[in-house]
Amino acid sequence: MSTGKLFVFSAPSGSGKTTIVKHLLTKPELQLDFSISATSRYQREGEINGKDYYFLSASDFQKHIENNDFVEYEEVYKDNYYGTLKTELERIWALGKNVIFDIDVIGGLNIKKQYPEQTLAIFVSPPSVEELERRLRFRQTESDEKIQMRLDKAEREIAEAPKFDVILENHDLETAKQDAFKLITDFLNK
Ligand code: 5GP
Repeated sequence: MSTGKLFVFSAPSGSGKTTIVKHLLTKPELQLDFSISATSRYQREGEINGKDYYFLSASDFQKHIENNDFVEYEEVYKDNYYGTLKTELERIWALGKNVIFDIDVIGGLNIKKQYPEQTLAIFVSPPSVEELERRLRFRQTESDEKIQMRLDKAEREIAEAPKFDVILENHDLETAKQDAFKLITDFLNK
């Protein structure tokens, strides 16, 4: 099967990567399609199964692991599994499109390792851990305990940033969106 390019966006939760990815998906000239991950976490209000994620039970997720169905998967938070199914990449490549991922740092680096030439791995960097905390609290989707869990993880993730192809600073969202668009255009024209 002919394969398109892969654009990985990884970042600590709250750094704005999802907003940037959603913006890029509105640009038809980039020919992007979103890699819908499978997850065993609960479905948040407003999320759609088969659009935001494929929501699976823990046992179904486990079966896919045993069948070797994942390109990469990970227990991102305790008892919450996330992974990219091989069938998802095949689905997008069959459409003749490029894949865009919103995935955690370890998963992102795993994709890059498996498809080194085709992948542009972008780390979206928040201005600071303090700003990240402010954004996560503003979002009001998680308990204090969960926010603390995400902040602890963020500090570990920021340490991995140098392993990415590019670090995209998100101090100002509009600038970050434009920078991301240019990074993708340049990589597609390479
Ligand atoms: P959330 O629960 O906020 O939707 O996502 C939690 C974290 O899991 C985010 O950092 C998100 O990017 C990451 N994630 C989503 N899908 C995948 C995936 O397929 N693989 C990996 N490794 N991480 C993922």
